[in-house]
Amino acid sequence: MDYNRLAELLFPDIDKTPEYYENLYPERSMAEGAMVTRMGPSPTGFIHLGNLYGAFVDERMAHQSGGTFYLRIEDTDDKRFVEGAVETIVSSLKFFDINFDEGALLDKDGVRADTGNYGPYFQSERGPVYRAFAKSLVQQGLAYPCFLTEEELSAIREEQETAKETTGIYGKYAEKSRSLSLDEIKSNIESGKPYVVRLKSDGNLTGQMKEDGTPKLRYITVHDAIRGKLSMPANNQDVIILKATGIPTYHFAHVVDDHLMRTTHVVRGEEWLMSLPIHIELFEKLGFEPPTYCHTAVLMKLDDETGNKRKLSKRKDPELSLDYYRQKGYHPQAVKEYLLTILNSNFEEWRAENPESSIDDFTFTTEKMSSGGALFDLNKLNDISKDVLLRIPAPELADFLIEWAREFKPSVAELLGGSDDAKAYLAEILDLGRNDKKPRKDLVYASQIFDFISYFYDDYFLIREQIPEEVSDEDAVEILKKYEAGYNHSDDQSAWFDKIRDIAVEMGYAAKPKDYKKHPEEYKGHVGHVSTVIRIAVMGRSQSPDVWAIQQILGEERTRQRLNALIP
Ligand code: GLU
Repeated sequence: MDYNRLAELLFPDIDKTPEYYENLYPERSMAEGAMVTRMGPSPTGFIHLGNLYGAFVDERMAHQSGGTFYLRIEDTDDKRFVEGAVETIVSSLKFFDINFDEGALLDKDGVRADTGNYGPYFQSERGPVYRAFAKSLVQQGLAYPCFLTEEELSAIREEQETAKETTGIYGKYAEKSRSLSLDEIKSNIESGKPYVVRLKSDGNLTGQMKEDGTPKLRYITVHDAIRGKLSMPANNQDVIILKATGIPTYHFAHVVDDHLMRTTHVVRGEEWLMSLPIHIELFEKLGFEPPTYCHTAVLMKLDDETGNKRKLSKRKDPELSLDYYRQKGYHPQAVKEYLLTILNSNFEEWRAENPESSIDDFTFTTEKMSSGGALFDLNKLNDISKDVLLRIPAPELADFLIEWAREFKPSVAELLGGSDDAKAYLAEILDLGRNDKKPRKDLVYASQIFDFISYFYDDYFLIREQIPEEVSDEDAVEILKKYEAGYNHSDDQSAWFDKIRDIAVEMGYAAKPKDYKKHPEEYKGHVGHVSTVIRIAVMGRSQSPDVWAIQQILGEERTRQRLNALIP
């Protein structure tokens, strides 16, 4: 077979050679050890926690090493292209402070503004590049056209399934297409028969026999940065590299692009592990050095019903979507900090030793990543969020809350941040109890925070709870009357509490809870029950930070108003 003629027959339009592209996209000049990573999402418009998890690894590796992190849009499967998907990807990651240095980027008006010298960064615009490399493989007799029809392929699959063999085109199943003559190929093409281009695999047999008479398999060894040494049977499939439409498969595009874009580390989900032998063979055949692979673990959760570990699912788990975190108003720092705890087993220890440091100071390594399923747990995220929010100064947290409200709860945006006074009020509220020796940890995410602090705003103030059963309705009114009458906004905390204690004693309640516990028959209740009545009147709920401090923020007028509203 004259492979050069075959290549011309298949790719008459291609005049560029691999050398041309090698020169166009030279090795990057970077410091020793600098890593080039990329994210290669398909533009389906859905970006999930798994993407963020991977992107975070990419970003850390590139930026920690002084390298480059770029965005490549894997849009060869045009059925899945969703308008606005690129904006979603870029803006969702930006929210989490993950920024690309290069690639398929957009300007602030959403117009394409790619940067970098290794583009185009949309695979759909790289057709001629893939075809040039496919042509070169054909010229070397390493790839060939295959005209098998759907019917023929199904018949092969059925035969293989019946014989319990691996499905696919390999070995004897590849012979028919591999042995077509140039004339046969020519006439097929002339009669308009569709065809794909397949890799001519070397197969996975060594040609030797084991002692039991079965053939010996050829193995490949790959050093995965997360999983260590991987040994897998070599590829034996004549995989498709160009589909009948001329569009490359993932396998081929991955190999060509990651080589030409000079990616040093490919971070991707473990679902790609099983096709690794295909990629290794493609790298070999194309004469490229493979990148370092980092196959990340799948995100799992404990199923609420069964208690078993399972994969996070788009259908069952709203928390898989990144929108979930934005809508609820999780602070991006909290989500990132949480992701680091599941990404690197030594992160929590580091955090305990460096409570005040920025997470960017933590040295992220692939070696500390687990290769088993990473367990995702919302409760743990919430716990971490409480700590992270404590480290954010109140005015900054207030701004975050206002931003969140503008986007997701516009009805309260004005109330929270409509003026400097409103902002200062909010900051004061958020700071409440945070500087104590044992700081309060009840702020978790924006929607929860708003709910938690809503009683500070008259429009949202609501009596949510009942007074304690130890206190009669008449007593409750009496308590509030006395409290209001003796209220002095400039009392310090201890003077304030003395007054409540006096009211309690005067009305037949124990001054100390323990007295009441010892002699319940002597009292109606204790001072705690009395102060709960006040708490409910002022805050609408029985659990809250310190009442005195809250009243200081609410101000005298509002405090009295709330008390008076309950005094007939
Ligand atoms: N387009 C692939 C995906 O969305 C990218 C995999 C990779 O990073 O290589 O799964």
